[in-house]
Amino acid sequence: MSARLFCYALLLLGLQLQACSGEPPQESMRADDTAARAMHDSANISRYVAPNAEGKVVRSDDEWRAVLTEEQFYVTRRAGTERAFSGEYRDSKADGVYTCVCCGLPLFDSRTKFKSGTGWPSYYEPVSDSAVVEEADYSFSMIRTEVLCSRCDAHLGHMFTDGPEPTGLRYCINSASLDFVARDATTKQAADNAMQHSMEKMDDTEAGQ
Ligand SMILES: [Zn+2]
Repeated sequence: MSARLFCYALLLLGLQLQACSGEPPQESMRADDTAARAMHDSANISRYVAPNAEGKVVRSDDEWRAVLTEEQFYVTRRAGTERAFSGEYRDSKADGVYTCVCCGLPLFDSRTKFKSGTGWPSYYEPVSDSAVVEEADYSFSMIRTEVLCSRCDAHLGHMFTDGPEPTGLRYCINSASLDFVARDATTKQAADNAMQHSMEKMDDTEAGQ
C-alpha cells in the first residue's frame, strides 16, 4: 500500500470511528428541555400509551411532542443525533435496564454496556432480538445500520460491527432515546418484571400474527 493510500485509509477509519452521526453538531437544548418537561408533566398527558392490536405504539407528532422534550423528539421521531459527549447516559455504569424513552420498552441491559470512547452510550447487544429493528441507512453518504425501537419505531442510533466480544457489535445509541430503570435491591424485581411483562407481550403479539 502506498503512503498516500495508507493515509487515505487512516482518514476513512477515523471518520468511521467518530461516525455515530454525519450531521453537524447540535447545540444543547437541555435548559429548554427541562422547562418543556415541567410543562408536559403539569399538563398531565399520559407518558406511555398501550400498544395497538398489532403490538405497535402509534402516536401523532403532536402527541409525541407533548410527552417528549425537544431533543428527545428530534432524535427519536426525526432520526436526529445528540451532540457527542453530551448525553446523560454516555458514561453511566449504573446497574439496570435502558428502556425506550417513547414507549417504555426495555431495549438494552447495562451488563452489555461498554466504554467505546465515541461519546454515545454503547452496548454489544439489545435485551432481545425482538426489542429492536435494524434497517439500512444510506443518509449522509454513508452506509450504516439504523437501530429502531420495535414497538414505536423510535430512532435509537446505529449499529456497527467493530464492537467487543461476545458479539463483535457496537450499538451506538443516543441517550435522548433512552430512559433508565435501576436494578438495585428495591427495584430489581420491578425492572425484571417490566422486562418480563414486555417480552411476554411481544411474544403474544408475534404468536398472534
Ligand atoms: Zn419505543
